[in-house]
Amino acid sequence: MQIKCSSCAMPFALSKDEITQMVETFKANPTAVHYDAQCPKCRKMTKISKKQFTLNPVYKKMLEG
Ligand SMILES: [Zn+2]
Repeated sequence: MQIKCSSCAMPFALSKDEITQMVETFKANPTAVHYDAQCPKCRKMTKISKKQFTLNPVYKKMLEG
């Protein structure tokens, strides 16, 4: 999953492990609306909304599964 840092605008990809962690976070907290991903360059947190995440049918399936 490609995202863009909200602080330094550097594009970076989330690893498979981070995707798994994000799915677990959303599953464990049904009220959570975003996940914080850390930028590899500036180390600042970038919010990934659940809505944005579930736009991808593969990830949506992971959340429902
Ligand atoms: Zn950054």
